[in-house]
Amino acid sequence: MLVVEATKVAKRYGKLQALAGISFCVRRGECVGLVGPNGAGKSTLLRCLLGLVRYQGAISLFGQEAKAAGHRSLALVGAIVEGSSFFPYLTAEQNLGIYLWKRLPQAVLREHIRDTMRMVGLNPRPGQKVCTYSAGMKQRLALARALVNGPELLLLDEPTNSLDPVAADEIRRLLLHLNSSQGVTIVISSHALFELERLCHRAIVLDQGQLVTEIALQRSGKGLVRLRVGDMARVEEMLSGDYALRRLDDCLLVECGEDHKVGMMIELMVREGIPVYEVARNAFEDIYLDLFRQRNRAARGHPE
Ligand code: ADP
Repeated sequence: MLVVEATKVAKRYGKLQALAGISFCVRRGECVGLVGPNGAGKSTLLRCLLGLVRYQGAISLFGQEAKAAGHRSLALVGAIVEGSSFFPYLTAEQNLGIYLWKRLPQAVLREHIRDTMRMVGLNPRPGQKVCTYSAGMKQRLALARALVNGPELLLLDEPTNSLDPVAADEIRRLLLHLNSSQGVTIVISSHALFELERLCHRAIVLDQGQLVTEIALQRSGKGLVRLRVGDMARVEEMLSGDYALRRLDDCLLVECGEDHKVGMMIELMVREGIPVYEVARNAFEDIYLDLFRQRNRAARGHPE
């Protein structure tokens, strides 16, 4: 089942075409990343999906055309959008109580809110007001608000922004758990490409309001191996019979799902006396950088 179906979604801010007719789908249970340079239109697209801005084109959520259905499907959606705010002089519990629309008996409601806070690792002092929270605590609260109604779809604009590396890792693990164990569908924007590589099944690349391409990702990073070696031409020749590979500026990307095959590849290179400088699983960044290098060259009139 399609959870999101966007057809020719376009958005103008005055003369600026922030989105130029974007179409894509997200299936139930998928985790999809949105990537692209600043100003590419990622936040605007998420805002369109949430009905926060007017747009042209059509968006269906859970099979219902959003505008026609009065955006009713949003009851199944949890979201973090840029610049969202809380009631500053209330506690996290009070804030979440306001956003929780599910009607529950008081005691159950309190426990549910505490559970949600525990889930996102939000642990303020008793009675602490939100205006005194650190940026990281506010980000955790934003995620708690997105989760408090038990959504089936999460739309997350840079959810690990302003979190320290350990906190960001905790949130990534939580999102991975929600997606793989509870089947929550996720659309997430981020500049942290390794984060998307770890979480997502695929990435949608935006640039200047256009959908440039989609890149399949194997979360856990398996699939592609990045090699930096002493003699790229020779290794390319040696491996090309057995592996699908691609040469980028400073490395080779080799399709190689199984760990034992990586071992065999390294063994082969060592046996041939070729220096191996780097073998890494996180190749998404290379693919992304290569894509934009090519686009920038083409824009300057130097295709290769
Ligand atoms: P991203 O999230 O990829 O960085 P945005 O969706 O925030 O990109 O912005 C896309 C384009 O739309 C940018 O050029 C940005 O300046 C413009 N934009 C975004 N929001 C507004 C707004 N409220 N008013 C005018 N222009 C906007």
